[in-house]
Amino acid sequence: MIISKTIFLDYVFCAKNAWLKLHKPELLKKFELSAFEKNLMEQGNEVEAEARKLFPQGVEVMERGEEAVEKTRELMEERTSAIFQATFIEDGFIARNDVLVWNKEESSWDLYEIKGTNSLKDSGTDHNHIDDLTFQASVLSRADVPVGRYFLVHLNKDYVRMGALNIEKLFLIEDQTEIVLAGLALVEDQMKTASEYLSEKIEPKGGCECIYTGRSRHCTTFKYSNPEVPDYSVHDISRIGGSKKKLLELIESKIFKIDDVPEDMDFSDIQTNQIAVHRRQKSMIDIDGISDEIKNLKFPLYFFDYETFAPAIPLFDGYRPYQRIPFQFSLHILEKPNTEMKHVEYLHEEMSDPSPSIAELLEEHVGAVGTVITWNKSFEAGVNRELGERLPEHRATMDRVNSLLYDLMDVFKKQHYVHPEFRGSTSIKKVLPALVPELSYSELGIKEGGQASNAWGEMLAKSTPPEVSAQIAKDLKIYCGLDTYAMYAIWEKLYKMLD
Ligand code: SF4
Repeated sequence: MIISKTIFLDYVFCAKNAWLKLHKPELLKKFELSAFEKNLMEQGNEVEAEARKLFPQGVEVMERGEEAVEKTRELMEERTSAIFQATFIEDGFIARNDVLVWNKEESSWDLYEIKGTNSLKDSGTDHNHIDDLTFQASVLSRADVPVGRYFLVHLNKDYVRMGALNIEKLFLIEDQTEIVLAGLALVEDQMKTASEYLSEKIEPKGGCECIYTGRSRHCTTFKYSNPEVPDYSVHDISRIGGSKKKLLELIESKIFKIDDVPEDMDFSDIQTNQIAVHRRQKSMIDIDGISDEIKNLKFPLYFFDYETFAPAIPLFDGYRPYQRIPFQFSLHILEKPNTEMKHVEYLHEEMSDPSPSIAELLEEHVGAVGTVITWNKSFEAGVNRELGERLPEHRATMDRVNSLLYDLMDVFKKQHYVHPEFRGSTSIKKVLPALVPELSYSELGIKEGGQASNAWGEMLAKSTPPEVSAQIAKDLKIYCGLDTYAMYAIWEKLYKMLD
C-alpha cells in the first residue's frame, strides 16, 4: 500500500475513518461528498490553476505512479525552472508537489503548496497545511532532493477585484520553512504509525472516539462503528458537545437513548425542555412568548430569502475571495392579515454581477415601514451590508432593509415552541415539516442552499445544454420560493395560535 498525503491527512484527522475508507470500499457510497464538499474541491482546482500563473515557465508532470517519478527526475536533471505535480515515491509514501521551483542561487529546490483558503489562520486549517507540507518534506528528504525553502501559497482575503485578475495581489506566499523543519520528527513518527495502522488487514477494534462528541462532529461512518446508538440519541441533545463531562457520563453508563437519560441529571433549560418534549412526545408552547414576538411585527410583512454563491476566485469587480454573490431572492409580501400575498422573485441568469438588479428590485418592493422576516437574519443582513458597500448608490436602500429585519428563528431559539420532531434543531428544514407537514422540501429538485449555490454555476456554464439550464432555473425558483413561503406558513401557524 502506498500512502499519499491525502490518506496521511485523513489518518491524522481520524485513524479509524482513514482505515475504513481504505479497507471497506463497500462503505464508499456512505462517503459520498456533500454539495458543499464538491464545491470546495472544484474551487480548489480553480485556485490551483490561477496560482500556477505565478510560475509561467512551469511544466506539468502528466504521468502517474512510477512513470511520474521518472518524468520528475528528467525535468529536475534538465533544471526545469518550475515543475507542477513533481512526484516522488519513497518507503511506501507518495508525494505530488504542487510546484517545485529551481533556485539557481542556492542550487536547491523550493517547494510551493497551493491552498484555496483565505488565510492560514482559518479555523483548523493551519495545522493541516503544515502537516501537508511536512509530509512532503519527509518524502523529498528520503528521495535525496535538496530543498531550500517550503512555502504556502494562499488567497489574499483583502484583495478586491477591479478589472482583470491581478494574480500577484490575489495570492500571498508565506515561508513556512522553520515550522516545517521543527515538526519533521513528529510527522515522521506519525507517518510510521499511519503505515502500520493502515496496513492492518483486520479492522482495528474501537477507535471511534466521536461516541464522546455531539452529533455535528460525527462522520458518515459513525453509524457503522456504533450500531447500538439510535439515529436520535443523547448525541443530539442541544449543545451536548459543550458538556463533555455529561456526555462521557452517559456513554460510560451505556445510555444512548434520550428516554433513558436519568431524571435527576442536571441539564440547561434548553436541554431539559428538549428531553421533556421527547419523553412526552408532546410539544411545549409558551403562548405569551410567541405573542411577544409575533404581535409586535409591523405590517406589511416581507418574507425574504437570498441564495448566494461564494467563489474562491472573485468573478466580478468589487468582490473579494469567497465573498458571497447574491444571485437570487424570493420575497413574499403580506400587506395585512388575511389578504392575498404577493410574490416577487429574481434569479440572475447571466454571468455578470447581480447586485444592481437585486438592489433596484428591493428598492422598488420593500417600503419604509414593515418587517422583513428572515430565518437566521445575520446571513441576509451581511449580504445586504456587503451589497451596500459595493454599490454606494444603493447603500441607503440596503440599510433600510436591514433596519426592518426580524429573525423568525428566534421564536424557536428562545424555545417559545419546542416540538419533539425538532430534535434539538431550529433549522427551517426541521421546523417546517413539524408545524406545516403539508409543505416539504423532500420532493424538490434542489433541497438545500449548498445545492442551490452549485446549481447556479452549472446553470450558467457554457457546457450546460439549454434545456438543462432551463430546468435548473425552474428548480431554483421553486426552492427559494418555498423558503419564503415556508416562513409565511410558519408565521401564519403561530399567528393563528394567538386568536
Ligand atoms: S465518527 Fe469520528 S471517530 Fe468515528 S470514524 Fe468518524 S471521524 Fe472517526
